[in-house]
Amino acid sequence: MESASKEKEIMGKLVIVGSVAFDAIETPIDKTGKILGGAGTYIGLAAHQFAVDSAVVSVVGNDFPQEYIDLFSERGINTDGLEVVKDGKTFFWSGRYHNDMNSRDTLETQLNVLENFDPQVPKAYRDAEVVMLGNLHPLVQLGVIEQMTAPKLIVLDTMNFWMDNALNDLKRVITKVDVITINDEEARQLSGEHSLVKASRAIQEMGPKTVVIKKGEHGALLFQGDEMFFAPALPLEEVFDPTGAGDTFAGGFTGYLAQTEDYSFKNMKRAIIYASNLASFCVEEFGTERLQNLKKQEVKKRLKVFEKLTQFHIDLT
Ligand code: AMP
Repeated sequence: MESASKEKEIMGKLVIVGSVAFDAIETPIDKTGKILGGAGTYIGLAAHQFAVDSAVVSVVGNDFPQEYIDLFSERGINTDGLEVVKDGKTFFWSGRYHNDMNSRDTLETQLNVLENFDPQVPKAYRDAEVVMLGNLHPLVQLGVIEQMTAPKLIVLDTMNFWMDNALNDLKRVITKVDVITINDEEARQLSGEHSLVKASRAIQEMGPKTVVIKKGEHGALLFQGDEMFFAPALPLEEVFDPTGAGDTFAGGFTGYLAQTEDYSFKNMKRAIIYASNLASFCVEEFGTERLQNLKKQEVKKRLKVFEKLTQFHIDLT
């Protein structure tokens, strides 16, 4: 017992902020009813694969089942910062994927309790080393940064919606983060540059020293100063549901960095491989199903496939 609590004390702490939601998803193959979703949920389930002491900061309504909250607690994810609003309704998002399974249309977004979300980081987690700011209003993300006492790494994920609707707030918060994760089209929109190399440079000038550009089934790019690294996505026979892959990637990236407490570029290269590996599982079943039941052994086995996918030898003599 004593050694277990000691172990907990020395684990890196990770604060996760993001939506905890109900989703309804349609793909060309199938569709779901209301299922568990949300960026914060995917990030938490992915980060749980690592030895980290994590806490999810979010808000739900009284329609949110206790069994979903238990799903976090059972995995050791602290829920003291998961506010339950009496008489409130949980955030709801629904989307339909096109035949390419890459692009999608948002059918409905009901902000509900997210509309007036005032995030409260539990006191015990304000000294966390790593903060993962999932895709939410930039001022909510800023509110979380302001509660942290000595973060070593702040990672921010965002999307075009905030660039269209709250660009100045977004620009303000990104001056305060170390890493931004963003998809390729959003990187182009934010920077006004088509080349992703130029886009990453322009975004670095806005604040974050490190830029991760997610390219869906085409992998992810990591930029820091003049350094550049690429992690492929695992080519899969069938993608069942891509929802949450980007958030799973973010959870894998920050989970690995919080576990290792090494924020060097060299270690970030490993982190994006771990991140891509976890994202490859996420898309194999609807919603969070695959992540909920993912075994450490399966993760390890697939990492070996990743290694083989990218290893080659060229005789340069
Ligand atoms: P991804 O597929 O990685 O873009 O993430 C999908 C998840 O993001 C879904 O589970 C949604 O519940 C959540 N989501 C979609 N739109 C928003 C939004 N405007 N704010 C917060 N979360 C959102």
